[in-house]
This record gives sequence, C-alpha cells and structure tokens, in this order.
Amino acid sequence: QLSRHIKEYFLSGGSQFTGITKSLLSGATSGLTAGIAASLIKQNITGFSKNFIVGDSPAGAIRDLKRIWAEGKTFTLDLLGETAVSEVEADRYRDMYLDVVDVLAREISGWPAQDAAREKDFPRLNLSVKISSLYSRIGVLNYEDSLEQVKAKVRPIFRKVKEVGGGALIDMEMFSLKDLTIDVFLQLLDEPEFRDWEHAGIALQMYLKSAGRDVARIIDWAKARNRRVNIRAVKGAYWEYEKTIALQRGWEIPVFTVKSHTDASYEEMVEKILSSHDHITLAVASHNVRTIAAAMTAAERLGVPRDRYEFQALYGMAEPIKYAMNQLGYTVREYAPVGDLIPGMAYLVRRLLENTSNEGFLRKKFVGNVDSAALLAAPEPYPGEPPGAPRAPGEGPFVNEPPIDFAVAANREALRTAIEKVRREMGKVFPVVYGGQEHGTGDRLVSRNPTIPEEVVCSTGVLSREMADEALAAAQKAQKEWGGKSAGERASYLFKAAGIARGRRLELTAWEVLDVGKNWAEADADVCEAIDFLEYYGREMIRLGTPRKMGNVPGEDNRYFYQPRGVGLVVAPWNFPLAISVGMTSAALVTGNAVLYKPSSQSLMIGWLAYDILKSAGLPDGVLNFIPGRGSVVGDHLVEHPATDFILFTGSMEVGLGIVEKAGKTKPGQKGPKKVVIETGGKNAIIVDGDADLDQAVPGVIQSAFGFQGQKCSACSRAIVIEDCYDRFLERLTEAVKGITIGNPEDPKNFMGPVVDAAARKTITGYIEAGKKDGKVLVQVPVPDTGYFVPPTVFVDLPSDSKVLREEIFGPVLSVVKVKDIDEALEVANSSIYALTGGFFSRSPANIEKVAREFSTGNLYINRGCTGAIVGRQPFGGFRMSGVGSKSGGPEYLQQFMEPRVVTENTMRRGFTPEDVM
Ligand code: FAD
Ligand code: NAD
Repeated sequence: QLSRHIKEYFLSGGSQFTGITKSLLSGATSGLTAGIAASLIKQNITGFSKNFIVGDSPAGAIRDLKRIWAEGKTFTLDLLGETAVSEVEADRYRDMYLDVVDVLAREISGWPAQDAAREKDFPRLNLSVKISSLYSRIGVLNYEDSLEQVKAKVRPIFRKVKEVGGGALIDMEMFSLKDLTIDVFLQLLDEPEFRDWEHAGIALQMYLKSAGRDVARIIDWAKARNRRVNIRAVKGAYWEYEKTIALQRGWEIPVFTVKSHTDASYEEMVEKILSSHDHITLAVASHNVRTIAAAMTAAERLGVPRDRYEFQALYGMAEPIKYAMNQLGYTVREYAPVGDLIPGMAYLVRRLLENTSNEGFLRKKFVGNVDSAALLAAPEPYPGEPPGAPRAPGEGPFVNEPPIDFAVAANREALRTAIEKVRREMGKVFPVVYGGQEHGTGDRLVSRNPTIPEEVVCSTGVLSREMADEALAAAQKAQKEWGGKSAGERASYLFKAAGIARGRRLELTAWEVLDVGKNWAEADADVCEAIDFLEYYGREMIRLGTPRKMGNVPGEDNRYFYQPRGVGLVVAPWNFPLAISVGMTSAALVTGNAVLYKPSSQSLMIGWLAYDILKSAGLPDGVLNFIPGRGSVVGDHLVEHPATDFILFTGSMEVGLGIVEKAGKTKPGQKGPKKVVIETGGKNAIIVDGDADLDQAVPGVIQSAFGFQGQKCSACSRAIVIEDCYDRFLERLTEAVKGITIGNPEDPKNFMGPVVDAAARKTITGYIEAGKKDGKVLVQVPVPDTGYFVPPTVFVDLPSDSKVLREEIFGPVLSVVKVKDIDEALEVANSSIYALTGGFFSRSPANIEKVAREFSTGNLYINRGCTGAIVGRQPFGGFRMSGVGSKSGGPEYLQQFMEPRVVTENTMRRGFTPEDVM
C-alpha cells in the first residue's frame, strides 16, 4: 500500500515534486514490472525516510543518538505525527512523549560528559513537542477550550522533562495555531511549578509578517518576570500551506512572499533576541550559511557569551554545515524525529519541499552551484505592503467573501459582543410588506431559539389569501418599470446590498446562531455565501445583459437577448436561511422580475434580514415583497395563481414535487406555463477507499455528517467503506464521534447545536428508533435535555432496504456500509433516488478517475468533506429527486428566470450591406 501510495499519489502527472525528488523516490520505475517497481519504490522511500528519521522508536533511535553525542553534538527528540482524530489518539501521543522521556533519561544519563559547564545551560535531554497532535479538537473557534486542553496535555510532559533535568521546546506549526501555541507556552510557564525552570522554549517563525510582534511578546514577557526562556528562531516550514490557505480563504497572506524578506526578517529578529540574552537563550535553526554566519557575527558584535545561544539543524540535513559549526566550537543540536513512516509523512513532505525548493539555500548551494558571493549577499528587507485602493461596488472580477478569521482574538471578541447585542433585540414583530406598504394581521408566526425554545427570536404577520392577491397585483405593477431598467442598473442594487450585508456581518452571523442554532463558523459561512450570491449574480447579469450577435452572415443581424419572466414566487428553507433566501431572491430580481419572497417559518428573523438588506439597497416599492405565511396558503394559492409567472423553491422533495404538480395546472387568464425550479433533498454518500488517508477521511465524514447537526441538503448520511479499511475506519470514527461537543452554539466550543424545532427532533428520533430495530448503533453521543437536541448517532449493519439508508433524514444520523470493492461502493452510492452531493476519499488516481466518472451526483468532492459549496467555485445543485434546474452560484443559473429572444433584421438596403450594426 505504501509503494502504491507513493507511486500514484506523488509521482502522478501534475505532481509538483521536482525531478530530483522523483528520481530519489522512483528509482527505476520504468521498464520494470509493476511488482518490482513497487518494491523498489518501497525500498527507496524507506531508505529515503531513514535519512531523516532517526528511528522508529526511542529505543531504536539510541544508537544514532549516541553517535551524534560522540561526535560532540547534541540533539532534541521529536515525535512524528501531527493528527489525532480522537482523544484516544491524542492521549496516546501524550503518553508517547512521556515514554520517550523515560527511555531517554534512563539511557543517556550514563553517557560520558561532553562539557560539564555547557551542559548546565544546554541539558543533554531535550524534547520538541508539537501541540497539534495533543488535542483532537484543537482549533481557533474553540480557543479557550483548546488552550485548556492543550495545557493539560503539555503540563505532564513539561513536568517530567523538568524532573529529569532536561529541556523542552514547543514547535511552531500552522499560522492559525500560532497565538494559541504562544499562549499555551506562556501560561504554562506562569504556573508555580514551572516558575524556576530555565530550559523551556518555543520556536518562532521569522517568515511571518508578525515575527516582530511575536519575538517582542516573548522578550517582554521574560523581562517583566525576570525569567529565562529559549527561543528557537526558524524561518518556517509551512510556507506553501500558508500561502495556499490564505489564497483559498481570501485572507492576507501571513508569510513573506519574497525569500529575501524572510532572510532579512530572520537576521533582524536574531539581533533582537541576542540583544536580550539576559533573558533569552537563542537557538539558531537554519541550514543557510549566510543566516548562520549573520547570527555568529551579530553575537560577537553584541558580546553575547556562547552559553546564551546554540545552533540547531535537522537530522539528515546539511551535514557539512553541522560539521563546520561543531569544529568552530559552537553547540550544535540535531533535531531528530522518531516514529513510523506513515504518521511522519507530513514531516517528510516538508523536508522534500525544503530540499528541492528552488528558493532554498541547500539546493542553490549543493545542486545549483550558485556562487558564494550570491549565496552570502545581504538579504533585502520587507518594504511593507503598498496601500490597496478600496474597490468601488461591483468593480473588478468576482471574488469570494473571506470568512471571519477566528484565529484573531479581536474577531472572536467582536462576535461574542454581537451575540450579546442581538440577544437584547429579540422579540420584535415584523410586518408583511407588499407594494411598499406594511400590513399587520392579528395572526402571528413565531420563530424560536431552538437551544432555548422559551425564547421568541421574533414574530411576523401572516399572509392571507386576500393579501396574497393584493401582493401579486402590486408586484405585477412594479415589475413593468423594474424590468425595463438596464442590467447594469439592476446589478447595482445587488452590489449595494452586498455592501450593506458586509457592514452588518457580525449582526447577521449572531442572529443565525440564535434563530436556527448554527455554530459560529457555519453561521459566518452562510453570511459569506449570501454576499457572494449578490456579487456573483450582479456580475453575471452584466455579462448576460449585453445582447449577443449570432452567426456571421452579411446583410443579416441576429441579436440574442433576454427578457424577464414577470413575477416570481421565491420559497426558501430555513437551513441556509440567509444565503439561499438572498441567492434565490437576488437572482430573480436582477433578471428583471418582481418577487414575492416567502421565508421559512422556522427562520423568520433571518428571513426579515434577507428582505431588509435587499430593500435597504433602495429597491422600488413592490419589486420585492416580504410575505411570511403558512405553507398551505402560499402553496395552494400563490403556486396555482395565474399571476405567478415562475416559482423558485428550495426545500424538501415532498413539498417541491407538490409545487411542480400544482404549478402544472394552467388557470384561465394565465400568460403561459409556469417555470418551476426546485432544489430539494439528498441522501448523500461518501465512499472511503481501501487506501484512503483516514486522518483526512474520518474528520471529513464527521464534518459532513454532523456539521450543523446534519441539517444540510448536502450532508453525508451514508459512509460507504471498502472492507480493507472498514475496521480501522470504524474504530477511529467511533472514538472521534465520542469527542463531538454538543450544546449551546453561542459557546464556540460546541461543534453541534440543536436541530431546528420540536417537529424536526421528533422526525429524526423516529428514524433513530427505526435504525435501532433494523441495525446496530455503533456510537451515540448524549445531549443536553433542554432545547431541541438530538444525539449524533452512527449505525452499522443496516439491511439495504432500511428506510434509514434510503430516506433523507435531515439530522445527525450517519450509517456506515461495508462493501468489498469500488464497484460495489458505486452501486450502493448510486442506488438512491437522489443525486445531490457525494464524496470520495482515496489516494489512487485510477480510482479517483473512475469514481468521478461513475458516481452520479450533482457535486462530487474528492479528498474533502461533501458540504460547503462555494459560489462561483462549486456551483451547486443536483438532479433526479434532488431537483430540477441549473446550479446555483453557477454560470447558467440566471438564465432560468429570463426568456431568451432573438431578433433578426435584414440589413441589406437595395444591395447595400452595412458592415455591422451592433
Ligand atoms: P533557506 O533555504 O535559507 O530558507 C528556506 C526558507 O525560506 C523556507 O523554509 C521558507 O521559510 C522561506 N521561504 C522559501 N521561499 C520563500 C519565499 N518565496 N518567500 C518568503 N520566504 C520563503 N519550522 C517550523 O515551521 N516550525 C518549527 O518548529 C521548526 N523547527 C525546526 C527546528 C530545527 C532544528 C530546524 C533546523 C528547522 C526547524 N524548522 C521549523 C524548519 C525550518 O523552518 C526550515 O528548516 C527552514 O525554514 C529552512 O530555512 P534555512 O535557513 O535552513 O534555509
Ligand atoms: P420544507 O419543504 O419543509 O419547506 C421549504 C419551504 O417551503 C418553507 O418556506 C415552507 O414554509 C414552504 N412550504 C411548505 N409547504 C409548502 C407548500 N405546500 N407550498 C409551498 N411552500 C411550502 O423544507 P425545509 O424543512 O425548510 O428545508 C429542508 C429541506 O430542504 C431538506 O429536504 C433539504 O434537503 C432541502 N434543501 C435543499 C437544498 C438544495 O439546494 N437542493 C438546499 C437547502 C435545503
């Protein structure tokens, strides 16, 4: 499996790994039979990994560590592995750290002394700790929770290292965890038992634009307490990752993007740290001779004694450089990873990138033969960002709205404050609005907080049949002028609305938490998506608004253009209450139609806000009408009404099919057949291949099945797992599900909240009961007994005709199905009446290609979860019983609300043919 993985995954076309890496890994792959090639690859990769991994266990590492010691160098031990999907796995990592200390302490205490004086400052036992492996739910949303849990895991490790007189240092990983890592470190060192410990340290990354602040924070902390701590200065090993993530999310790139800016930052920070040598012991961790020399000369210039700094390098890298530093009499420490190859893969990939990067010193020096003067030239410092000009509304190409970066403490605080603020505004009553007039009725619809059902979030008036007739008449009247406006003008209302929504982002996000029980990230994503729809459809309308010239024949002019359909009824669900409402409504509006918008009765607050944002952009009266009402009134009356020209519906299959049927009956006075677009449910499956990376697949399935309590049309409700990894998958899934946090979504530590109302809870509970009769509960997590909570439940061993496997449940229920191979997996996956989303976890390009071809779903996601489509990137929607219509957030969506027309003009005038009249 290892060799297949390496061969298909890393050496397939499009792989970014350079020639050297390929040859390093593949050896003689060509011309040999697959079997021999596979074993050669295995040999190569195992051999390759041995270059960088000191041993597969602490005991197995001793021989090499002894050699390093005998050569006059020292080491820090690192445990491979950076993912724990459950607390069982995280605890195992913690115990491994504790074991390492035991084994090492026993073994190395007997080794001969190198230099007793030096050992006082640089203890021979040294451990490097990665916090990401120590808590399975580590993240920035649940910041406080992560902080406490990680401290609880690191504390015993620090304690043990301190007891045996050693030193420990916390590695720095992804930027998103940087502040958390620093907080863990400083808060632990503030605890009484560690106040006299001088051998604790932290790695700081100088490729970060925040490096100056990070370094200052540690120095200031140490000075204020008159303490000594260690800083390992590194450039940073996650450069590609940070850049990719920031680009994907639309955030500022946190790392420098010019190599010499990183180098200059490093040299500047090293000077800063050396200047504070009374409080900080520095480890210069670099393989770059210029960087190392800069540190050496700075130390000499600043008169820093040699017991205040050391040099560190990675095991297996830059041997000549380590040798030279050792010869010069500096303390040289090797960073020595211990562990298995597979958990160590991420570490190895970073080393591959480092060794083969065109920007890197090692490649330039040892492969590129770049001359010494160039290699040793002083780096250029970062000049700062040029000020970016703000974009005018609608300007430039479409870009997705960046999600809130919850790694920033101020953003977490701002949302907390926004929730407190909107809480105080609960209980308002909103009118029905049509023709620009507010209409109240004695009747009320009420939206409740599903976490605390006694709390009324808001209430609204209710549309009656008579009001529905008046609303349609008002819309018909307003549409005439609205439909005559240019595409650009109509689009400008959407851009304005996007600006308004952006300005009210925190408020909108906060209301989502209270109105439907979304957690912070889910709530924020719905708001971003709403803004995206406005920006995207505005631009799409401008694109489609220009008539197209068809054909190219002299003397004939053919123009292809669109006209609005008239008055549309938009019926929205509650599960993406802002995005779907705003998306459907704005699409119908920007194409020149007037809209009667009916929000879901379960999400009236967000429904009102969707209306309010669009209306505040200045839409003329009657163009957009807010008509909360009961499904039965709206369903039978408005759907069948001859003045309704089209219906745009998102919701359940049953209601959607009913609408199709009712809208199909033509009434007297009707202009024509009604256009009906329905987007309905799913019974989505994720297939897990035998060689899938379970570190990815387990969290991917959990996020897809239980995110927003499984109440997404795209949610995964079936995991179809190939038997090769079935047992391992179940084992890891069980432990990971046990770790799901459920409670009030106002508290960001809770991954799951309640389902939307009592009726939903009853329906889902009914399915759980049916599942218990038909199959076996693998794992179920208890939930609070107030509020509409439903326990996340995983079933196995269900017969294929169980309704749990066949019907959309729309709640936190997942079934795992075992299959023998990929063909059977596809057969099971495709056996549903629905075809909405699907997922596939695999490392085999051949299987990926097959599944992409044969898994019949509207949206298929490979090696990631199957929810969270993004406007303009993953246009969304299904077929079969999942709906009829073009994908929302895609290039064919708007055309559905317009009628295409063609005007052909004979432009020849008695033999004279003008060149072009358009
Ligand atoms: P150089 O070749 O001079 O620099 C390469 C580095 O420059 C890249 O790694 C990247 O950081 C940066 N870079 C590359 N291209 C660009 C670009 N276009 N724009 C801007 N910058 C660029 N890394 C961590 O992240 N966390 C740790 O805890 C950590 N611990 C380490 C411990 C030790 C003992 C050592 C030796 C390294 C550790 N590293 C850690 C890895 C370290 O970050 C890399 O080894 C280091 O970045 C390589 O730098 P260099 O000076 O050796 O090489
Ligand atoms: P639902 O069908 O119960 O209600 C949807 C909307 O229809 C609500 O506004 C409701 O009041 C209204 N309605 C109810 N009866 C009606 C009738 N007879 N005539 C006209 N309107 C009527 O669905 P829901 O519970 O709000 O949403 C969950 C469903 O939506 C799930 O099945 C889910 O899969 C689906 N959904 C699909 C997509 C998609 O893009 N395919 C997206 C989100 C949700």
